[in-house]
Amino acid sequence: MGKALRRPVKAWQAGEALVLACPSSSSEGYYLVAAKRFGDVLKVAHSCPAASAGRRCWHVDAAAEAFREWRWWEVPPSEVERMVRPVAWSSAWEEIPVPGYEFEDMFGELEMGGRDDGRQRKHIA
Ligand SMILES: [Zn+2]
Repeated sequence: MGKALRRPVKAWQAGEALVLACPSSSSEGYYLVAAKRFGDVLKVAHSCPAASAGRRCWHVDAAAEAFREWRWWEVPPSEVERMVRPVAWSSAWEEIPVPGYEFEDMFGELEMGGRDDGRQRKHIA
């Protein structure tokens, strides 16, 4: 098994739901993981082999964490309910930076790009 990235790599806002693309650890693919709040419960829907087999997977934790980051000003839901249900991608979703990784992605580019000549800073400020 390769060393797959254990973090969401893309995010979308779908109404009041947050949808994340999480890389599969066993293949090149991605799983779509949707999280939506219902009162004090965060429902997280997706379908991966581990979840389908009733096992824990990192996708649910990642979605709960990203949801908290996304709605940082709210008191986080106290419960997470897992739902094994495939999520179909929709072109109506609006792509947003992955919550909790906005800066990592930004600075990751700087590291890759080498020199910081000051010009890039303007984008941050
Ligand atoms: Zn999963």
